[in-house]
Amino acid sequence: MNQTEKRILFTAEDIARQVERLASQICADYQGKEIVLVGVLKGAFIFLADLVRRLTISVELDFIRVASYGAGTESTGEIRITTDVELDLQGRDVLIVEDIVDSGLTTAFLREHLAGKNPRSLRICTLLDKTERRRVTIPLDYVGVQLDKGFVVGYGLDCDEAHRHLPEIYELIL
Ligand code: 5GP
Repeated sequence: MNQTEKRILFTAEDIARQVERLASQICADYQGKEIVLVGVLKGAFIFLADLVRRLTISVELDFIRVASYGAGTESTGEIRITTDVELDLQGRDVLIVEDIVDSGLTTAFLREHLAGKNPRSLRICTLLDKTERRRVTIPLDYVGVQLDKGFVVGYGLDCDEAHRHLPEIYELIL
C-alpha cells in the first residue's frame, strides 16, 4: 500500500490559506469567549497545531482518539473511543477539530459523545469535507475544502500509518 502512486491535491500554501481563513472565522465567531478545541487523533494533529497558532482568542486544548477504519479505506461503521478528553467540558464552548469527514459516522458519534458532557456550545471544524459517501447529515460549522471522493493522505492523514508527515495533501491512486 505504501508504494501506491499519489497526486498532489493541495500544496502547503493552499492549506495555509484555508487554515488562516478558518482561524479568522473562528476568532470572529468566538470573540470575547474562551474555547476548548478537541482534536481528533491521530489525523487532526497537524491541522490542529497550525490552526491553534492562528487563533487570537483564548483557547484550551484537549484530544480524543477514536478507532474507526482499521487498516482499510472505507468506514466499517464501528467506532469506539480509545482515549477520551480529560478536561471538564461542562458549560464550555467546545469546537471539535477533525481532519476529514467522510461518511460522517465518526463525527456524528463524537458529537453525541461530547454533547453528553454538557458543553454550553458544540461546533465542528473540519479541514476536509468529503461528500460522496456521506451517510448521516451532520452540521459542519467550519469547513476548509470540499471534495467529492478519493482517498487522501498527508498533512496528518495516513494510509496504514504512512504519509502523515507530508506537508501537502495527496490523493492516492488506488
Ligand atoms: P467517517 O466516519 O466520516 O466515514 O470517517 C472519518 C475518519 O475516516 C476520518 O477521521 C479519517 O480517519 C478516515 N478517513 C476518511 N476518509 C479518509 C481519507 O480520504 N483519507 C484518510 N487518510 N483517512 C480518511
